[in-house]
Amino acid sequence: MEQPVVLSFASLRQRALDCTACALSTTRTNVVFGEGAEQAKLLMIGEGPGEVEDATGRPFVGPAGQKLDEVMNSVGLRRQDVYITNIVKCRPPGNRVPTRAEAEACTPYLEAQIALIQPSVIVALGNTPTQWLLPDAPGITQSRGTFFSWRGGILVFPMFHPSYLLRYPSKEKGSPKYLTWMDIQKVKAWLDEQARGPEGTPAQI
Ligand code: SF4
Repeated sequence: MEQPVVLSFASLRQRALDCTACALSTTRTNVVFGEGAEQAKLLMIGEGPGEVEDATGRPFVGPAGQKLDEVMNSVGLRRQDVYITNIVKCRPPGNRVPTRAEAEACTPYLEAQIALIQPSVIVALGNTPTQWLLPDAPGITQSRGTFFSWRGGILVFPMFHPSYLLRYPSKEKGSPKYLTWMDIQKVKAWLDEQARGPEGTPAQI
């Protein structure tokens, strides 16, 4: 895809489904475009599809997706309330981190999705989307749990990727899981505040 173009969701999805702009097109089973509410206030962005996502064409439906559901459900958020997608729409073999070239080839789709959805807040799940959105931010361990201003109108809120929580299942205070449950409460509180009316934006760094 050569440049970000604001198409309808259906046209954009079709363009992605036919895409061969990077080498991931040669190893994917399905393109995982994203799904959810097309007018969502909350956009969640992960790194890339995993094995189950590649097999089904749906984002976050494997074990990490089930963990993400658990995190969202803990504050009453449902899949149909948010939009979920990834930096790259095709699975990197072995779930490796997408290369810079792959991310650069694919992120025009993400740019177009953001333009269509116009979310109020973007949750960046893990280092890869955080670095793409906030190249000057510290690593995810330091940046998580903080609202950042992005392009002057949208907030970005980094959180741990749910696959990280699967590797560290402890719920003890200070653990990734404990911090993530705290973080999603901050997101929900902010969404609730916005729903009540314009009372300003939260503090940001
Ligand atoms: S990862 Fe993105 S740019 Fe690469 S082939 Fe898939 S849709 Fe196209």
